[in-house]
Amino acid sequence: MIICEKPGELFQQLEIPAERNLSVGFVPTMGALHEGHLSLIDTCTTENNFTVVSIFINPKQFNDEKDFKTYPRDNARDLGLLQEKGNIDLVFLPTPEDMYPEHAEVMVDPGVMAHKLCGMSRQGHFRGVLTIVNKLFNMISPDTAYFGAKDFQQFILISKMVEDFNMKTRLRMCPTIREEDGLAMSSRNVHLSSSERDEAPSLFQALEMGYHQIKKGERSSLLVIEKMMTHVLENTHFEIDYLSIVNPADLEDLSEVDPKNPFIIAAAACLGSTRLIDNIFHIP
Ligand code: AMP
Repeated sequence: MIICEKPGELFQQLEIPAERNLSVGFVPTMGALHEGHLSLIDTCTTENNFTVVSIFINPKQFNDEKDFKTYPRDNARDLGLLQEKGNIDLVFLPTPEDMYPEHAEVMVDPGVMAHKLCGMSRQGHFRGVLTIVNKLFNMISPDTAYFGAKDFQQFILISKMVEDFNMKTRLRMCPTIREEDGLAMSSRNVHLSSSERDEAPSLFQALEMGYHQIKKGERSSLLVIEKMMTHVLENTHFEIDYLSIVNPADLEDLSEVDPKNPFIIAAAACLGSTRLIDNIFHIP
């Protein structure tokens, strides 16, 4: 497993797959790796001859300085996990100074869908996400890049960027990996206290309950959302940021849900200072 910290080393090492005509798969991460990340990596190694994983905590996507400072970091553990897998070809671990030299100022404008859902409370978040993904795609030129369904808004916005900027990389969305009690795995889960950890699965339970109501015939989003809200708020200390049922094509709220069409039930909520997101994606 090659480890590169400098963009120059990365370019040099990427000559290996280019010369041998190997397909390059890419998994961008912010580290503090868990089974969710590892499942993306497994899919990537299965589908490609050369797998690149990046670990970079992108300062430009944090709208909250404290969140950035406390974001879990453990490169030694992450590299150990990746090494153990035995089939990862290259890990790119750049520094903020290399990714954002002082003179850098151009950023990607993520368009209107970036202001919905997570974008409402995280100003500038998707501008930062698209800028770093754009830079990494330019540096690595992957044939295929792998992302998790947990961050579906991120996936939709990256897909839009790839389309609008005529980029050649194919995108793959992989399923959300969960703890046994349903909680979506996240690097931020380590911040939950033990009582918060006990309450955390309520968010996904509410989404499942809402999905069940729709499958049973409920068509009013408002009624489904009300039921989900009650479930999340009852006996927990969650503060809900949003609980929405949206159309994946434009992320607009759906007032009527029709299971013959795609929809996403999406939620973001805070337990103490930890923000959790989750969703159920319905594709008929
Ligand atoms: P992050 O390190 O949080 O920026 O995530 C890196 C990639 O892993 C993103 O594409 C995420 O959507 C994905 N990811 C994070 N958590 C999970 C999960 N529980 N299951 C599947 N993919 C995930």
